[in-house]
Amino acid sequence: MTNAPAASANCLFCKIVAGDVPADVVASSERVLAFRDIDPKAPLHVLVVPKAHHGDVSVLAAADPSLLAEVVATADEVATELADGQYRLIFNSGPRAGQSVFHVHGHVVGGARLGWTPA
Ligand code: IMP
Repeated sequence: MTNAPAASANCLFCKIVAGDVPADVVASSERVLAFRDIDPKAPLHVLVVPKAHHGDVSVLAAADPSLLAEVVATADEVATELADGQYRLIFNSGPRAGQSVFHVHGHVVGGARLGWTPA
């Protein structure tokens, strides 16, 4: 995509990307940032975001599929580097699914045997 969306003024993750809010960054590339979740739900819990603002995974998939692929590839790299390479990658999409920050982010969770209780 040539015209990346501008940062959204009130977006927490845009502020983290800009360095205006501190974060425990574990990976950074030209278009993707990964940082530890502030309230981890597993021994490994990292959020992977595109640096450009896209509201949710549905928007990103339509606007820039190659950027979504970079997000997924970064999630895999982080899980391999920081844990044993076995992980769950979760995109909450919409408030009813639990999304609370409306800048798309993949939760990379791992480092332990995971339960399965999404409901
Ligand atoms: P969501 O509920 O899927 O939108 O996930 C938002 C995630 O962002 C939650 O897991 C929060 O713990 C996490 N979070 C909120 N504020 C911060 C922060 O400042 N740094 C890192 N993670 C955060």
